Amino acid sequence: MSQPMRHILSLSGGKDSAALAVYLRDRIPDMEYIFHDTDKELPETMEYLARLEAVLGKPIIRSSSTDTFDHWLKVYGDMLPSNARRWCTRQLKLKPFEDYIGEDPVINYIGLRADEKRTGYISTKPNITPVYPFQEDGLVRADIIQILEESGLGLPPYMEWGRSRSGCFFCFYQQRIEWVRLKQHHPELFDEAKRYEAISLQKTNGFTWSERETLEQLEQPERMQQIIDDWETKQAKKKANRKNRPLVETLGGYVDEDDTAERDGCYICSI
Ligand code: SF4
Repeated sequence: MSQPMRHILSLSGGKDSAALAVYLRDRIPDMEYIFHDTDKELPETMEYLARLEAVLGKPIIRSSSTDTFDHWLKVYGDMLPSNARRWCTRQLKLKPFEDYIGEDPVINYIGLRADEKRTGYISTKPNITPVYPFQEDGLVRADIIQILEESGLGLPPYMEWGRSRSGCFFCFYQQRIEWVRLKQHHPELFDEAKRYEAISLQKTNGFTWSERETLEQLEQPERMQQIIDDWETKQAKKKANRKNRPLVETLGGYVDEDDTAERDGCYICSI
């Protein structure tokens, strides 16, 4: 007898996967919601997941790697992860996901939107079939915000202080302005990232979280101000070029300018 198909939605703690969970809540009653906890998440992400659980009326299963980030960092010779050395996603997100699924046939629901160009970083196990309901139904960013507002869940709280992504607080995908904001809003987490970087710098050939700049250089007041000024100038130019912005985005009250840009982030971490 063939095994029954399982329906699984991996939550990243970000707005798109949360909106997908809400979107599919009443259509797929036996959906399993899962979150892969790296133990390096922002407190706001955990708070958002707790709120999402209440909206879904169902528990979100938490999976984690059998070994910690610190363990894997040692295994990889204290070499910080990066886009070219993305061992973190494999060990802390994808592997626990694949272990959780086992060999069962699974439909994996992914929150990539119709207005996104990225392809994501997904499991290639043959028993996992990825599906993209937002792309199939043509839903774009404004639709996602609307789903979240109407459900009462709203946007992830880290967006209030200008962070655009969920995932590890030290994620190398974050922009320089997000490092500045991390320093301003969670100085203790910024310091923790700095400690990892200092060890990496000592033991490897100069790997840093942010390209060509250490966090110690980035946190200097004049450098932080320069990053803020550059970012504000860039945003002002983008806003001036953008006509007829949908009202729902304006009401969203945050700026997430790289949201539709092509980037090779991992869907499992930040969608
Ligand atoms: S959020 Fe970033 S640092 Fe964390 S596992 Fe994903 S890619 Fe790696």
